[in-house]
Formats: sequence, structure tokens, C-alpha cells
Amino acid sequence: MPPPAPRLFAFDNTYVRDLENFYVRWKPTPASKPSLIRLNTSLACELGADPALLASPEGIEALAGNYPMEGAEPIAQAYAGHQFGGFSPQLGDGRALLLGEVIDANGRRQDIAFKGSGRTPFSRNGDGKCALGPALREYLVSEAMHALGIPTTRSLAVVATGDMVRRERALPGAVLTRVAASHVRIGTFEYFAAHQGPEQVKRLADYVIARHYPELVASTQPYLDLLAGVAERQALLIARWLGVGFIHGVMNTDNMTLSGETIDYGPCAFMEAYDPATVFSSIDRHGRYAYGNQADIAQWNLARLAESLLALIDTDSDQAVARATALLTAFPERVAVHWLAVMRSKLGFDESGQASEDSQLAEDFLSLLQAGKLDFTNAFRALYDAAAGNPLPLQALFGNEAGFGAWHARWLARQPNRADALLTAMRRANPWVIARNHRVEEALAEAVDRMNLAPFERLLAVLQNPFESRADDIAYTEPAPAEVTACYQTFCGT
Ligand code: AMP
Ligand code: MG
Repeated sequence: MPPPAPRLFAFDNTYVRDLENFYVRWKPTPASKPSLIRLNTSLACELGADPALLASPEGIEALAGNYPMEGAEPIAQAYAGHQFGGFSPQLGDGRALLLGEVIDANGRRQDIAFKGSGRTPFSRNGDGKCALGPALREYLVSEAMHALGIPTTRSLAVVATGDMVRRERALPGAVLTRVAASHVRIGTFEYFAAHQGPEQVKRLADYVIARHYPELVASTQPYLDLLAGVAERQALLIARWLGVGFIHGVMNTDNMTLSGETIDYGPCAFMEAYDPATVFSSIDRHGRYAYGNQADIAQWNLARLAESLLALIDTDSDQAVARATALLTAFPERVAVHWLAVMRSKLGFDESGQASEDSQLAEDFLSLLQAGKLDFTNAFRALYDAAAGNPLPLQALFGNEAGFGAWHARWLARQPNRADALLTAMRRANPWVIARNHRVEEALAEAVDRMNLAPFERLLAVLQNPFESRADDIAYTEPAPAEVTACYQTFCGT
């Protein structure tokens, strides 16, 4: 018998309590020889947990799923989803388990979940496992996104299981412990709309409203307002992604949260040279989830949420469709509003300008980047440096690039002076360093092939401080060699 489980978290599990029939109670598959690869001590503290206890032998066993945590009620959540445009009526947690919820130090309810903890009733043909590389990738990129200030799930721990998982080759297995505002996805609504009908969809919608949109509890049209609220958070999220060159890579409806957090870091990557057609995912052959398509896809996904909610929006189905359609038709405009705000920050502009002129300045800068195949992150950071008094990086990047002089003159004229607050906002909108693909791959390869975690730890430390320039870390700001980017591919469900 394993030792008794220490009390790691103060669980309080509303999903299990309020939504019976929306999940299957299940247990993790034990790991043969767990070892702690990474623990997020500051996040542990935020969750009210003791990092030393989590890192103790009992804690590591618990984080590998080898014995139950006190108060946890592990479940596999049911969901469906549109994947690359086609409906899969039965997805669900095939390799994940929700352990339960805790209230964090900021008073926010957070899910604590495993990924890679073994087969469940939703596993279909999958093995329920996660390889160490993808677990570390999710840890790295989600924590990088958090440091950039972008809503995201977090990563609490990665434990190697000591078991191998079969992929193209045998790879070390791992369990990632993920923290999320919740794991309710558009696909969760699709599942209950497809299989059960409006009563159950209403229960789920009421749960989501209470948990994520409490201001709508008293609304006279709560379900239309829920759709509007989700759309607004997604519009903001997509604008934030675009602002840092993030490409999610697999924006299926089961990977889009109702909370507005980025979720599921599979084939994600950051764009280097600016090109809206950029796509890295090996299975995205038609560029459905390309950088520049993400707003359109979010709208498409929201239409699937709307369909699931129609019966709640209006008892007259024509009316329901008309109301939902009117709302979603405005989505591109909502993204544009948030995108303009992001771009104004990136260009160092206050709010005083004409929206159309500021948008045009942003578009024209992006056109210059695209024509010159220039690095998106470094070019915007060079603008910040110029605004802060150092024009050299901007000159070095653009040299005699045709058209830059004229654009630069317009940019200078638009905002001749910047108060400290505006300059600070500009800095925070233009990271000095992002998770560059070749750096991520290098760190994961060292970790997986040689069990050398030093490059991973170093990269993580660099990414946790993305806005401050440091001479020691300058190599992390360099784009990948062109030949690496040309054939860079990321993989899904690995
Ligand atoms: P993803 O592409 O990671 O968003 O996963 C899509 C669906 O496939 C979800 O239902 C996952 O639970 C399931 N899935 C992905 N990988 C595995 C695996 N190795 N074993 C079982 N199910 C999996
Ligand atoms: Mg997923």
C-alpha cells in the first residue's frame, strides 16, 4: 500500500457536484517510477499549496497519479468538437483528468488537472499518455504566454513517469499538471447539445455563467449575453495572440475555452519573419489555422457555440438564429477594436489619433516587414528602442528598405512625445524575447534525449522575463536560421 496521501490542495469541486452526468469518475494509471522534472513553486504558492510538500516523495507520487490526493475527485470530462471543420461527436478527456478545483490567492477558482495520466473511457484508440517533450513544450509556452500577460492555462508540474510511450519512436512519458480557470470548451456545449438537448445545455450554461460571467446572472437574456461575453473575450485573446506573433495551430472547438484562456499547446509556435500565411502544424495542410486566419476561425468556432445555445437564446428558432447571427457578424469588428488597441501600444501611440489612420500606420509597418521578411518581434522592439532614445536597432533592421523612410516620418509625426506611462506601455507591448522555435526544440531535445534540463531551465528563465533586455541573453533574441524556419513543423496530439 502506498503511504497516505498528504493534503496538497484545499479542493472544492463544483463541476463534480453541480454537473453529474457531464463526466465519468476515473482514476489515473499509476506511473512505474515517477521523478519530478519541474515544479512551478510560485504557482504552487498561489494555489495555496506547499511547494516543499509537492516536491517531497509523497508529493511526486501524487503528481504522477500513484495515489489519490485528499479531496480530489478525478473525472474525465465529456466533450465533442469540430476538428479541422468536421464534427467529432465524442472526444472528451482521452488522456486528461480533472482532479478538482481550488480557490487561489486572488480568490479565483482554478481547475487542477492531469494530462498524460492514462487511458479513460474517452481514449478511443489513443494510449492516454503524454511524452515528456510535449509536456515540457506546454509548460514552457504556457508560462511564456503568462509572462507576456496573455490569458492562458498555467503549468504547475511535469513528472516523468519512468514508463516509455510509443510514438514514432519510444519516448519517455510524463504527466503535466495543468491549472485553468476551467476546462469548459465550446466542444463541451456541442457534446450536450448533440447528445442530450436544451435542458442539459442550460445546466452547463448556468454553470459557466456563475463561474465565469457572474455579472450575467441577473440578465434578462443570459444565454445571448453569454455568447456575447465569450465572443468578447475571444476577440481580445486573438488580438493579444496577433500582437506577439502567436499561432495556436489547432483551433478546433474543443481547444477553445469559455473562460477566454489560451488552452492546449500542441502544434503552437511563434512567427518570426512576418507573414500572415505562416503555419507550422504538420497536419494543417491548407493553412486553416494560419496566423492571419485566427480571427476568422474564432468566429467560425463561436458560430458552433451559438448553434449549441440556440434553443436557450429564443424559443422561436428563427429569432434565435437572427439574434445570434447579428451578434457574431459584429465579431470581426470587435477583433479589429482590440487589434487596434494592441497595435497602438506596440507603435507607442496614445488614444488621440484617428482609428483609421492608426490602423493604416500599423498595416503599412506590417507590409514593410512582410516585404523585407523581417522578424516581427525584433522589428517592433526596435521601434520601442527608437522611442526610448536608441535608434540604432531600427536603422540596422531596415537599412535602406524601400519605403521605410516615409513610414518612419509618419510614425514620428503621429506621436512626437511620449510620457513615461506611454513608453512603459509600449515596452510591455513589445517583448524583447519570445519562445523562438529553434530554442524550444533545442531545450526539449536536450531534455528528452540526454536528460539534460539545463537548456530548458535557462530558456524558461529567459521567457519569464520577456520585456527587459539583458546582454547575457541576447542569443535568445536571434531568429532561427532561415533553413530551420523553412522546414519547421509542429505536431498535434503528441
Ligand atoms: P488535442 O489534439 O490534444 O486537443 O486532443 C484531441 C482529442 O484527442 C481529445 O479528446 C484528447 O483527449 C484526445 N487525445 C489526444 N491524444 C491522446 C492520447 N495519446 N490518448 C488518448 N486520447 C488522446
Ligand atoms: Mg485538446
